[in-house]
Amino acid sequence: MTATVAFIGLGSNLAHPRRQIARAIAALARLPGCRLLRRSRNYVSAPVACTIAQPDFVNAVVAVATTRPPRSLLAALLAIERRQRRRRDPGGARNTPRTLDLDLLLYGGRRLRSARLTVPHPRMHGRAFVLRPLADVAPEAVIPGRGLARRFLRRLADQRIASTRTHALH
Ligand code: ATP
Ligand code: CA
Ligand code: CA
Repeated sequence: MTATVAFIGLGSNLAHPRRQIARAIAALARLPGCRLLRRSRNYVSAPVACTIAQPDFVNAVVAVATTRPPRSLLAALLAIERRQRRRRDPGGARNTPRTLDLDLLLYGGRRLRSARLTVPHPRMHGRAFVLRPLADVAPEAVIPGRGLARRFLRRLADQRIASTRTHALH
């Protein structure tokens, strides 16, 4: 079976965010049907579009080579979130504080739209906290239907983001 390169966005702003990110990357590296290719640096940014005060986010992006179909990969991401005690608000509010958020950003050159999964991630092109780490792992990344990811990053200079330390798992 041929593998597809997929990009996954990671975010955390609760319960030791850098440790959450490191644990999630270790879990991704162990996923059957997935091979970790690259990981970005960690970035810290203020929460966007949120109505309540909450801690800064730590974000990263990884590239994996995967033989899992997109829906199966998403299910595996949601399982890792649950294992790291992600609580989902039944109201479904976005941008709420969380221990771990894993988004499937890109799956090869595919475009998918269903009730549970949209790829490319529909909001990624407006988020510096996604595009900046994506540029670390794939400077030439293309968002199918939109074009070069780094072009969008240039338009988001007002979204402040800084690289930060990574956490070593022991
Ligand atoms: P945002 O999607 O704006 O980043 P969020 O990550 O906070 O917001 P969640 O509550 O984590 O949103 O996800 C809500 C639902 O989005 C998930 O249950 C999942 O079914 C769906 N979803 C659709 N497309 C994707 C995708 N590409 N990656 C991850 N989840 C997706
Ligand atoms: Ca998200
Ligand atoms: Ca999500």
